Amino acid sequence: MNDSEIRHNIKVLQSEIPAGINLVAVSKFHPEDAVMAAYEAGQRRFGESRVQELIRKSDALPADIEWHFIGHLQTNKVRQLIGKTSLIESVDSERLLEIIDRESEKAGVTTRVLMQIHVAREETKFGFSPEELLDYFRQRRFESLKATHICGVMGMASNTDDLGRVREDFQKIAELFRIIKDEIPELRGFDEISMGMSGDWPIAVEEGATLIRVGTRIFGVREY
Ligand SMILES: *Cc1c(COP(=O)(O)O)cnc(C)c1O
Repeated sequence: MNDSEIRHNIKVLQSEIPAGINLVAVSKFHPEDAVMAAYEAGQRRFGESRVQELIRKSDALPADIEWHFIGHLQTNKVRQLIGKTSLIESVDSERLLEIIDRESEKAGVTTRVLMQIHVAREETKFGFSPEELLDYFRQRRFESLKATHICGVMGMASNTDDLGRVREDFQKIAELFRIIKDEIPELRGFDEISMGMSGDWPIAVEEGATLIRVGTRIFGVREY
């Protein structure tokens, strides 16, 4: 996509997304110029899946961009990322969460995160199983966090053409979110459900998404 196509895609998407739902423009593997084209169309929230790439772009691009980290985060890269994101959407283990908390405390910042839930059929996707996540909250293990704010959940649907299956996956994610919210009323600011990508975001919105993460529809196909 060229810059004017990217600007157009942002405007169209923003007009299609219902009010109150926030778009994360997934710019991974696309150059800074592409991010700036979206920025010129008013987009301020971008998603990256690799630590070095996020840092490189955040150093080079305007300071009012909010960077969301959406990829699998290796524990040895946490320190570099702390302070650079407005939201780490992909916390996929308790160990990772503990390291984020420790490094945030050391750095004197509070890091906002989402808990990634694994509901998709694929073996390869990262995340907490529904049971693990419920145990984590029911046992109130979040109470030990000192410098991390859990803002909600993130998930991906199965990679399939079966849209009924995709919808079921999103329903599971939203249901889990509601169970946690109902059972643990003292959780403050636990409000976000991040789900839906280029191919399935309208279904995700119908099932309760508050954040959608769209890459290909804005920037075109990625060249890895
Ligand atoms: C790459 C990616 C997206 C964006 O996917 P598209 O199909 O390009 O919209 C969304 N979420 C996550 C976690 C991703 O890794």
